[in-house]
Amino acid sequence: MTVARDEVERRVESLSQALRNAGLRLTHQRLEVVREIAQSDEHPNAESVYHRVRARVPTISLDTVYRTLTTLADLGLVTRVAATLGPTRYDANVSHHHHFVCARCGLIRDVVDEQLDAVAVPHSASAFGIVESVEVQLRGVCKDCGKKEREHE
Ligand SMILES: [Zn+2]
Ligand SMILES: [Zn+2]
Repeated sequence: MTVARDEVERRVESLSQALRNAGLRLTHQRLEVVREIAQSDEHPNAESVYHRVRARVPTISLDTVYRTLTTLADLGLVTRVAATLGPTRYDANVSHHHHFVCARCGLIRDVVDEQLDAVAVPHSASAFGIVESVEVQLRGVCKDCGKKEREHE
């Protein structure tokens, strides 16, 4: 599963615009970071964005990647995936969806499902405050990790 091309273009457009509005110059390097996060459905961390962009732009620094992703996240244009182990993972898909998370390797994939969207908010949750949205995290073992474990049995 990859992100459709016109969706990638739409994201690149809105992320670039937002950076400009935030007063950041849209340098070639920043644009490459934007392209990378816009086209990824892997919820990458800053380090993996850095490695991919560096293949095309050898002069990019990890700091530039960090700052660009942090700015986009602070502006709400990419989200930080909640409750994952290790470094922050970024998501350019801001439409409502859920996640499958592999507990072994940290793979994260989008899950779009109307039934999960419709999960009723339990009364016990209301005790903490007003619930505005519900995101379900499905945790398990991905296909690759499952295969590796079977091979080692
Ligand atoms: Zn896995
Ligand atoms: Zn996602």
